[in-house]
Formats: sequence, C-alpha cells, structure tokens
Amino acid sequence: MHKRLKILDIWVDPVNRRDAVKKVEEFLKWGKRPYSIFAANPEKNFTVPKDPLLYNVFKNADLLIPDGIGIVMAARILYGAKLSRVPGVELMENICELAAKKGKKVFIYGAGEEVNKSAVEKLVIRYPGLNISGRSNGYVDEKEMGDLVNRINESQAEILFLALGSPKQEKWFETYKNFLTNIKICQGIGGTLDTIAGNVKRAPESWRQCSAEWLYRLISEPKRIKRQKMLPVFAALVLIHKLKSSLKTQEKR
Ligand code: UDP
Repeated sequence: MHKRLKILDIWVDPVNRRDAVKKVEEFLKWGKRPYSIFAANPEKNFTVPKDPLLYNVFKNADLLIPDGIGIVMAARILYGAKLSRVPGVELMENICELAAKKGKKVFIYGAGEEVNKSAVEKLVIRYPGLNISGRSNGYVDEKEMGDLVNRINESQAEILFLALGSPKQEKWFETYKNFLTNIKICQGIGGTLDTIAGNVKRAPESWRQCSAEWLYRLISEPKRIKRQKMLPVFAALVLIHKLKSSLKTQEKR
C-alpha cells in the first residue's frame, strides 16, 4: 500500500476500493488481532485531535478509507494524489460478499433494534451464504458490555461491523479490542445500517457520479447541516496549507 497521507490534522490511506478489499483479504488471512477500518472525512479533522483516545485509535487504524469527496479533493490539492472515493457502505458490501464467499462469520453491532434486525435480514438475502452469527442493537448499557463482548466471541465471528456512529464506534473499538478473541476485521460503518434497512436513502447514482452525495444527504436530512458546516472551513484550511507550502518551496529556490 502507498504511504498514508497527512491531511491537515488527520490521515487517509490512498486506496481505491480494490486495494481496500485486498487489504481486508490480507487481514483475514494473516490477522492475529482485530484490524480496524475507519473512514477519513473532513469532519474528523476537527473532532479527532481534540480527544486523545480518538486520536490514538484513528492514528493507529489499520485502514483509513477516503470516505468522502472532501478528503479526496484535499489529497489532490495537497499531494496531487488522484484518489477515488471509497464509501464505507460500499466497502461493507464488498466485505459481506467476501465473507459469504469464504464462509467467514459476521457480527453486526449498532443502530436501533428494528433497524439492526431489518438490515441483517436484508443482508442475508442480498448475499446468499452470508453467515451473520450474531447481532446486537447499538444501545447496550455499559454494565452489559462484558456480556456483549462474550456474545461476539462465542459467535465465532471474524468480522465485526460497528454501526454506532462516530466517534462512539472508534472509542468502543479502542476500549474493547483487546477482549475480542476471534475478530480479525472491525469496520466502523456509522449510519450504514439505516441505509441498508431502507430508513435513509443513498443518493441516486447520478448524484454520486457528480460527487454530490453529501449535498443529497444534506437536502434529505437538513439537520446534518450542523455537521457539514465545517466543510467550507476544511476547504479553506486545505487551500491555505497548500498556499503556505508553495510559498515555502518558492523561497527555497
Ligand atoms: N447509534 C447507536 N448507538 C448509539 C448512538 C448511535 O447504535 O449510542 C447508531 C444510530 O442509531 C445510527 C448510527 O449510530 O444508526 C449513527 O448514524 P450517523 O449517520 O449519525 O453516523 P455517521 O455515519 O455519520 O458516523
């Protein structure tokens, strides 16, 4: 894999979907511990550095996928890197396909009870042979967490999807990773189960092609404005950073 890129205060791995799936295959084949996959996006540039636990889990993640157009554009401006988006939902689909093909068991933890149940039902229909050996909604009491970890271990799952939203899922992973005895892959999938269950619609293909999935989500869920309002700030910071490094290079000449 190519070198991890530093984008302002976070990082991204310059992988396309095929590279990401290849990495997953390697983790599954050789892994002796849970390998973590999280999404890099502009919002995290502002949340990750503020929280030491989150900073650690993010910095030490085994794969940081370029989930949104913001991070793809930033990589292009800062490094001339031509990345393509790897949306978490699409990588999850690839992992389910792989799990069905290779007979690897899956545990899905997160989202409300109805959403979790319905997403699991849909996934086993969509991927014939997929063995979802355990599931739990994402509203487990901290006191019950030991039991949940036991259930994950007893399910013999090697793949764990964490659908608790960010940063909850990253923090959960950091706290419990050493207790997961059988898991080799853990992907943070945020609100993906809501999409699979059909409660939240993904942008139509034409919007995705124009890199406007974020706009579609904003129009369909205006309350996300709170989270997306940092996007222009992120874009401005990237441009300033680029300008400063270009000026430095000119001074050196
Ligand atoms: N969620 C959960 N437990 C919690 C808080 C949230 O399982 O304690 C779930 C919530 O039901 C939703 C998902 O986490 O399905 C968060 O989705 P969102 O779109 O906010 O996450 P993002 O993809 O933006 O990180």
